[in-house]
Amino acid sequence: MDIQYLPGVGPRRAALLKSELEVSTVGDLVRLYPFRYIDRSTLARIADITPGAAFVQFIARVKEVTMPTPKRLSAIVADNSGEIELVFFKGIKWMQAKLVPGEVFLFFGKPAVFNGKMNMVHPEVDKPSSGIVGRDSSGGVSGTLTGVYPSTEKLKNAGITGKVMLKLMAEALSTVLPTVEETLPEYVMKEKGLVPLSYALRQIHFPQDSNALAKATYRLKFEELFFLQLSLLKQKYIRSRGENGIRMPLVGEPFNKCYDALPYTLTGAQKRVIREIRDDMRSGRQMNRLLQGDVGSGKTMVAVLSALIAVGNGHQACIMAPTEVLAQQHFANISRYLLPTGVKVVLLTGSTPAGARRDIHAGLMDGSIGIIVGTHALIEDTVQFRSLGLAIIDEQHRFGVDQRSRLWTKTGAGAPPHVLVMTATPIPRTLAMTLYGDLDVSVIDEMPPGRKPVQTMMFGEGKRDAVYSFMKAQIAAGRQVFVVYPLIFESEKVDYQNLEKGFEDIATKFPLPDYKVAIVHGRQSVQEKAFNMDAFAAGRAHILVSTTVIEVGVDVPNASVMVIESAERFGLSQLHQLRGRVGRGSEKSFCILMTGKKVSTESRKRLELMCRTEDGFVLAEEDMKMRGPGDLEGTQQSGLPIALNIASLSRDGIILTDARNYATHVLDDDPTLETEKNGPLLREIRKDKYAVKDYSKIS
Ligand code: ADP
Ligand code: MG
Repeated sequence: MDIQYLPGVGPRRAALLKSELEVSTVGDLVRLYPFRYIDRSTLARIADITPGAAFVQFIARVKEVTMPTPKRLSAIVADNSGEIELVFFKGIKWMQAKLVPGEVFLFFGKPAVFNGKMNMVHPEVDKPSSGIVGRDSSGGVSGTLTGVYPSTEKLKNAGITGKVMLKLMAEALSTVLPTVEETLPEYVMKEKGLVPLSYALRQIHFPQDSNALAKATYRLKFEELFFLQLSLLKQKYIRSRGENGIRMPLVGEPFNKCYDALPYTLTGAQKRVIREIRDDMRSGRQMNRLLQGDVGSGKTMVAVLSALIAVGNGHQACIMAPTEVLAQQHFANISRYLLPTGVKVVLLTGSTPAGARRDIHAGLMDGSIGIIVGTHALIEDTVQFRSLGLAIIDEQHRFGVDQRSRLWTKTGAGAPPHVLVMTATPIPRTLAMTLYGDLDVSVIDEMPPGRKPVQTMMFGEGKRDAVYSFMKAQIAAGRQVFVVYPLIFESEKVDYQNLEKGFEDIATKFPLPDYKVAIVHGRQSVQEKAFNMDAFAAGRAHILVSTTVIEVGVDVPNASVMVIESAERFGLSQLHQLRGRVGRGSEKSFCILMTGKKVSTESRKRLELMCRTEDGFVLAEEDMKMRGPGDLEGTQQSGLPIALNIASLSRDGIILTDARNYATHVLDDDPTLETEKNGPLLREIRKDKYAVKDYSKIS
């Protein structure tokens, strides 16, 4: 049923529910779960309220109401334990009329601190008799845990407050529950001890007590993760069964020539990973493998050797990088490695001139080009291969799934190319299971010998001069320095201004002719960027000021200092990536985190962790916890290809593992889910929510 026909909704609110919360049917609404519950059964004493506490409820008498500014209404309220200031910026007139001094109200809100004093902004104000202790005035259901739903300013302005949401939810449940179809087969519920869907839906919105809520939550989380894993694993199963891959039986001449000429011995981890890839490529199954390895772990060589297996078997390989700078660097490195092999490698980016481009297209078609390195330009329609055998995608998080799938249309090989996705972002296990549940995973968990730990320090603005002196000392010792500024889409304008200001400041403090400072950012032309990058890479510039364009891949072993401005604005994983740009040479390296004036305690803690550890996985886990759905006030998790409604990848790792194991068990028994008892499962995973693109079938 369309949501607009639910009593209390109508077309206007329906449009908002759709645009703000993606709720278009009554069924969608009951699947919009509270992201928090408030225990309305307890009353606090004002003296016991502490700043930073969760929502509290208390009864107090209005003492005094003032308007310090025309836009701010301040009310002091007191009980016999103490007093607290309540602040209103909206609906001031109405509130002023309501809060008559001497009257007693029931207040409900979240304490905050302003100018060192505790207050409460926009608390709910009720008559003490309404909606208190065990009676839920809105949902009409007894119980003391009240759900809090995701909301936005627009929804609130349209009158869809928390209370209204509860009313709508009660309506929706009475419409939906009588006919709701159970999504799990009987046997699954029994084996896993899960409560029925109708019970779970009722309890998740209007819990009887915390025990019932726990059961409901568990059921819904398990269901969500189970279907997701089932869908991913089924895909993987089909692929591993199939004979749809290009068979590459040989190691091949080019591989051996390159291997014999290597300037170093491969690490054990590199060798192991190459063996895994080689086994995939000769298996006759299409490889879909994720290669994880921290910054500097030596993924490029693995990519090169894998590409050479394809070439050695009469096919071609492409290596796709997320930025032009990175593609160029890859191309330079790879060309060097390929010298002993005689394999022809070319570079194709957005700035490749038309003439050269035509030659490349021809060379790819006639097979004279063995390996092509490039950017997104590689997935343009005009690029076609004689026989694309392997597609390597570096730093995949910057490539959309759809972009990846377009590679499939390019091969003349008669079967989809093998795919190797490389990422330097250490992905927590739980996330990897979800994002890449359908991929096989290889990990390079060993660094090449000789990498030095990077000493990380955090400084405020007051220490800037000292930091500059330190940079000068390092430059005097022959080293180079990165200075990185944040650049975030939402604040792009200001960020660019800061970058410019920072650059001018450094150019003044590090004047010519003693110092040369280069700057690289996204608004430069490709030539300008390359010119400045080259100046730094070749050692002609001492300092490189940039945005995060240097985040991935850039290799300047002589750079020993990484200064990160406004470090609190970066995620931990991103900081870790940046830090990986130094510590590549033989000298001791440093990462300096500069912090802005206002740094929250939380940010400070994160940066301190950054100073303490160089373990990318620890940082990634922490990042995920910090950015977990809980922080987002019930809005969608970002960065996931699949939006989870209730389960959290950072907190529900145990349920996820259990769901995955159980999904494996179910598929072992019935790989195609075609038996009658699994009918409901097949029906569920065909829904859009759990859809996983089958890359091998896109054509
Ligand atoms: P990643 O792409 O994983 O961040 P790279 O492939 O760029 O790392 O390698 C980082 C550096 O380590 C490069 O300078 C590379 O030449 C070097 N390197 C790679 N493998 C080894 C090895 N087995 N022994 C010594 N140095 C290595
Ligand atoms: Mg790399």
